[in-house]
Amino acid sequence: MDLVHPMARETQREAREDPDAYWARAASDVEWFRPWHRVFRQEGVSFRWFEGGETNLCFNALDRHVRDGRGGHAALVYVNERGERLVLTYAQLLHHVERIAGALRTSGVGRGDRVTIYLPNSPEGVMAMLACARVGAIHCAVFAGFGAAALADRIRASGSRLVLTCDASFRKGKPIRLKEIVDAALLLGGDTVEQVVVLQRTDIPAPMTGGRDEDWRVWLAAGAEGDRRCERMEANEPAYILATSGTTARPKLVVHTHGGYQVGMIHAARWCFGMTRDDVWFTTADIGWAVGHSYLVYAPLILGCTTIAYEGALDHPSPAQVWQIVEEFRVTGLFTSPTAVRLLMRTGEAAAAPYDKSSLTRVVCAGEVLNAPAWEWLQKRALGDRIPVIDHWWQTETGGPTVGNPFGLGLIPIKPGSGGIPLPGVELEVVTMDDVPVPRGEKGILVIRRPFPSLTASLWGEPERYAEDYWTRIPGSYFTGDSVSMDADGYVWFAGRADEVINIASHRIGTVEVESAFLQHPAVAEAGVTGRPDEVRGETIAAFVVLRAGQVPSATLRAELLAIVRSELGAIAVVRDLNFVDMLPKTRSGKIMRRVLKAVTLGRDPGDITTIEDEGSVEDAREAWAQLRAGLGDR
Ligand code: AMP
Repeated sequence: MDLVHPMARETQREAREDPDAYWARAASDVEWFRPWHRVFRQEGVSFRWFEGGETNLCFNALDRHVRDGRGGHAALVYVNERGERLVLTYAQLLHHVERIAGALRTSGVGRGDRVTIYLPNSPEGVMAMLACARVGAIHCAVFAGFGAAALADRIRASGSRLVLTCDASFRKGKPIRLKEIVDAALLLGGDTVEQVVVLQRTDIPAPMTGGRDEDWRVWLAAGAEGDRRCERMEANEPAYILATSGTTARPKLVVHTHGGYQVGMIHAARWCFGMTRDDVWFTTADIGWAVGHSYLVYAPLILGCTTIAYEGALDHPSPAQVWQIVEEFRVTGLFTSPTAVRLLMRTGEAAAAPYDKSSLTRVVCAGEVLNAPAWEWLQKRALGDRIPVIDHWWQTETGGPTVGNPFGLGLIPIKPGSGGIPLPGVELEVVTMDDVPVPRGEKGILVIRRPFPSLTASLWGEPERYAEDYWTRIPGSYFTGDSVSMDADGYVWFAGRADEVINIASHRIGTVEVESAFLQHPAVAEAGVTGRPDEVRGETIAAFVVLRAGQVPSATLRAELLAIVRSELGAIAVVRDLNFVDMLPKTRSGKIMRRVLKAVTLGRDPGDITTIEDEGSVEDAREAWAQLRAGLGDR
């Protein structure tokens, strides 16, 4: 029986049979200053969408709604962990963005210039992105939790002329002095930076360097007469540069455009999230990540929703923070990450219970596999099984989801732990490294056979790396780097990154499969695993496990955990080392960095860890590893 809703099947068929006609129809969701003359053109690894068409992300996100009489609708809600709130209508947001656009142009910033935005999830952070898009400048938002080295790398690589920042941001009640970090970063590099504009938003004084630094308000006043108009951008002109999260290697600078990116990303918002202008949309991600760009800022505004930007830690001052925001603003759609779900799960569903969640109609989740136990907890325990919790897969490079549940076309049955089915317009296949399709149910590499509009067409400054990393490993197909299997119903199951798959006696076991098994034990909050060389078997599994609040390591627990993995994956899944740790090495966006675990087990240097959330996690893992080696196991 086909589990997929007939409308989703029909849409998939239309997209497959005539992709150009399909994407041309999707593009009519966007307003163009000038129509394109060709939908798609590809030459080798280079491709272009909607050639000749002129549009602008900012125009579609703001001007269009105000012109059409929706200026009074709430566009942006800002909330922070200190209890402050601000609501801006579309007309108000446009007014602020226009002022920043005028100041940018007065500073000499225009089409093609790069601007680094080092601001937290804040009204000004969102406005700065939109204003850059408005004047045709390319924004390079950097997560405002990164340290000086990571910031310096990104400023240098982008060649930014201007940095927009602020005095400080607050996280878990502690100030992070962003301007000081910018100063330190500029000492490490950033010769291209001519001006740093500093928003004073707290009473923490920001050090200012004469001749280079400018107060935000003074800068706005100086630019009051500046040209505020929206630049007409050719569809393939870059709108922004954004670094990938760096889970597996040195981050790559992905480029997204005004045309193709816009069309693909809102197409996915409609079909995967069912996003409409009646939504009050709450994305818990930061504007420094891909999710923040596409689904906090651009898609919700282009589709005319109310979008919520939250600054601070999700569990501060209490783990009820998310639910409180849902209740207060009658949130209809929540977008969060598995790491956030596991964080909430760690403290239990009691935090969610007192809040009214009846406005919510779906929760969508991406970034890592939403392991079945975490899905189960959110879907059943926290949300009472009333609405769907939907996993979906994408990458910074894809600009939006490519695998998911086509909720907007008709919800299909959810299989916990699976990412869902390929979305319309995305031609996916699971193949061997020799490009031979693998049978259903077997693991292979996920490839995308044909570009779709929001797929990045380049890496900033690294065209060779772009061709090499994505298009030459399986010649002619986009190489996602993920190991997956597709089941008989066409659902995709992610096993982990292909280069992290553990090879035990010629059996290929995905890291995610082992981690999901550990998570089935009620004492486990999180698990990260890696392969470790073994003379007999090739590799065995080294596991790092974080327990839920109140649980303590013991020999009994260890035995139970090993038994779960054995019963789930069979005797072949040999866990030789099981370490209990307080935290896992994760990127700032919450993804487990298994390459760091691997380095720890091999006693090697972990390489580039500028994107790590907490450097203490490396020490924690090293210590647990050393104790295990010394036979002091059950710490
Ligand atoms: P990045 O673009 O750096 O944030 O990371 C993209 C990678 O995150 C993908 O290649 C996957 O490995 C992983 N990922 C994202 N979403 C999911 C998901 N829903 N299930 C499994 N893996 C995911």
